[in-house]
Amino acid sequence: FNVPAPVNEPVLNYGPGSKERALLKQALADARSQELDVPMYIGGKAVHTDKKSALRPPHDHQHVLGRYSQGDKTHVADAINAALAAKAAWENLSWEHRAAIFLKAADLIAGPYRYKLNAATMLGQSKNAYQAEIDSACEIIDFLRFNVKYMSEIYAQQPPVSPRGVWNRVEQRPLEGFVFALTPFNFTAIAGNLPTSAAMMGNVVVWKPANTQIYAANVLMEIFIEAGVPAGVINLVYVSGPDAGEVIFNHPDFAGIHFTGSTGVFQDIWKTIGNNIHKFKTYPRIVGETGGKDFILVHGSADADVSATAIVRGAFEYQGQKCSAASRVYVAASIWPAVKEKMLADLATFKMGPTEDLGNFINAVIDEKSFDKLAKYIDAAKQDAGVEIIAGGNYDKSTGYFIEPTVIVTQDPSYVTMCEELFGPVLSIYVYDDADFDGILKTIDETSIYALTGAVIAQDRYAIEQACHALRNAAGNFYINDKCTGAVVGQQPFGGARGSGTNDKAGSMINLLRWSSPRAIKETF
Ligand code: GLU
Repeated sequence: FNVPAPVNEPVLNYGPGSKERALLKQALADARSQELDVPMYIGGKAVHTDKKSALRPPHDHQHVLGRYSQGDKTHVADAINAALAAKAAWENLSWEHRAAIFLKAADLIAGPYRYKLNAATMLGQSKNAYQAEIDSACEIIDFLRFNVKYMSEIYAQQPPVSPRGVWNRVEQRPLEGFVFALTPFNFTAIAGNLPTSAAMMGNVVVWKPANTQIYAANVLMEIFIEAGVPAGVINLVYVSGPDAGEVIFNHPDFAGIHFTGSTGVFQDIWKTIGNNIHKFKTYPRIVGETGGKDFILVHGSADADVSATAIVRGAFEYQGQKCSAASRVYVAASIWPAVKEKMLADLATFKMGPTEDLGNFINAVIDEKSFDKLAKYIDAAKQDAGVEIIAGGNYDKSTGYFIEPTVIVTQDPSYVTMCEELFGPVLSIYVYDDADFDGILKTIDETSIYALTGAVIAQDRYAIEQACHALRNAAGNFYINDKCTGAVVGQQPFGGARGSGTNDKAGSMINLLRWSSPRAIKETF
């Protein structure tokens, strides 16, 4: 079978007076006017509990969007049982029928659910309209459509040689057990991709989203059900990490984890899996995308405007809460004054406020914990010697978790904010001597504990070549003369190594192969 050739979903621009702007505003108003009762989904049934937690917009924490039902260990066990009960029928369904379900889900998002899902992402995760559109519309649609294509290519791959009298073939089998999808707050697309990519390959899934992403996860689940994902194939639970871990990582049928989140949590999970390894029927697949401390390196030959745009966009889109966000910049002294001037001019145009006002570029950070952590780093930078805050530095959580885009310039390339992952709108800059390009490359590589994304901005081709070579292992996604965020499915498969994860490239055949266990069959005539 040939599946439809995927193309990237076009980005709608929501310009003033446009039809899509009116539809989005309506979806936002509809969402704000209701208080949703958000259930878990186990074995195809909506499950409510008496323990409810409020869902609130990070930019307006007095408002209640809905309440979700909190589950506990029994719900995790129920979800695993429901998944295992659904397994035989799901894995025996031929792959083109699975493909049809996920292609339909993509079409539902592209069409009738686009505004509802974008509004949910804007309200629940405080993304502006453009950031929501490229995430909860375009990227999830692309994941679904491109993954279907990659899946079809995987099934078509067969051993090239069968000598006379022999027929060699390879059968792709789903993993023996269930897959656990643990998804982050910062991308609705990732929350949708982690369970569906495993499910597409014939696996059954227990899905636990971040508490701060439940509002949009609920809409995704409604879409998956409407698209025809059968009962029990994807089970959505809202439980604590310890409750989930205790049941899942002690279960003999645990066959894999598809994770995006913090490095610390991933390492703890890996250790638990290691300690319990004798309990599982099969070695579980461990696939994770974790932290980032992503860099932009500006060479003396760079175009100052290109550099400034790459820096402010890379650092501050979605309040810097992308794993790929630029959070440390190394800029050559000769070009720094021009880059700084343009950066400050750009930053002066950024409005900050609630997402419902589509003119706001900067919205709130995700929650109070994140706000407090970022405020601490900013306060320390105000005191520390050799450090200057050249933009932002103010914060206010009275109505929402607002932190101004903050730019720190430090004379020490190993200053704390140059090294630690902050996950917010705080950017650190170190100005290096043009003559020390070799040295700065070495510094960047040596301080790259994470290795997710990075960029070099330069016009000198020798400098570009040198950076590509010296920073080979410092980023899994490397950009030349562009910002370090915004990987597009089907164009730049996404992921990094070192402390950033297993580099199993989201939105690629590499990733889908992790959810399959091939059997080589030799038949002799
Ligand atoms: N794929 C996204 C990008 O390239 C980042 C994903 C993430 O934050 O995990 O910007």
